[in-house]
Amino acid sequence: MTPNQFLISLSEAAGFNLIGFAPAKILDTETERLREWVASGYHAGMKYMEHSFEKKADVRNVLPSAVSVISLAMNYYPGEFGQLPDKAGKVSRYAWGEDYHNVIGDKCRNIIRSIQKEDPAFEAAYNVDSGPVMDKAWAVRAGIGWLGKNTNVINPKNGSWFFLATIICNREFEYTPRIEDHCGDCTACIDACPTDAIRNAYTVDSNKCISYLTIENKGEIDAGFRGKFENWSFGCDICQEVCPWNIKFSSITRADEFKGGNRILEPEIFENMTDGDFKLKYGNSPILRAKLKGIKRNLEFISDKSVLSPKPEPLN
Ligand code: SF4
Ligand code: SF4
Repeated sequence: MTPNQFLISLSEAAGFNLIGFAPAKILDTETERLREWVASGYHAGMKYMEHSFEKKADVRNVLPSAVSVISLAMNYYPGEFGQLPDKAGKVSRYAWGEDYHNVIGDKCRNIIRSIQKEDPAFEAAYNVDSGPVMDKAWAVRAGIGWLGKNTNVINPKNGSWFFLATIICNREFEYTPRIEDHCGDCTACIDACPTDAIRNAYTVDSNKCISYLTIENKGEIDAGFRGKFENWSFGCDICQEVCPWNIKFSSITRADEFKGGNRILEPEIFENMTDGDFKLKYGNSPILRAKLKGIKRNLEFISDKSVLSPKPEPLN
């Protein structure tokens, strides 16, 4: 079995749908784009985006012995919303189940341990959408997919409903060719975004993105967005829902961890909830990130239809 075949078999056994291999070269253009994005203020209040460019650019600043980067993808698509109860807020599909950082992180650790049983000198570090490693950039370099105009990585046979993980390691592999951009003339995501957050193709302004505004944003939501959230109360899937690659290729995840029941948020559940209750209920869910205060703010924001339904002017 070649090193590639060994990794492919381990990744399949762990439930990953896609795997790709790239040499651990410097991410020059990708880091430059990120710098420009941050310099333009598109990261909004996410101050942590302003740091660790050296590690982002060169994974040898994360693992000095790095030779290769393995990119892994796992489908999380849990299905459609169906009928929504009145006043319910929608939850982005990635958060319907358990926290992917934990689920995917465990799988990465297990893969690394399995390799180290065969090869004790195998050194590795992994990342799941949290540390100073550019998971999307590596997924593109490793041939998982191309970066779509909505800034999601899209695979031509699977669409974009997948979590990404990155394993940096000190072994050489046969590297995977990159997949060219297939967005073409399509502008479906740009046209569908209700807050015009996709500025130019391939650039999302977090200041306007419902996903940022309902999760990472710790302040008030600008009244100018009232009536535009289309009932999204935690994250937003619109630019993925309309993508023709998802319409054609999405299939329900095999991972039970991501099929969970947090599809909607109903305001009455949160009325008398304490922070302790919230942590108990959402302790193993990405929803915890927004905190109880943030969820209440979001639900109040989407329930206020005053801009959509202005009071009629009095007749003279
Ligand atoms: S997540 Fe929603 S708000 Fe953000 S860019 Fe996509 S469609 Fe627009
Ligand atoms: S909706 Fe169209 S333009 Fe947007 S990411 Fe998908 S294919 Fe690309």
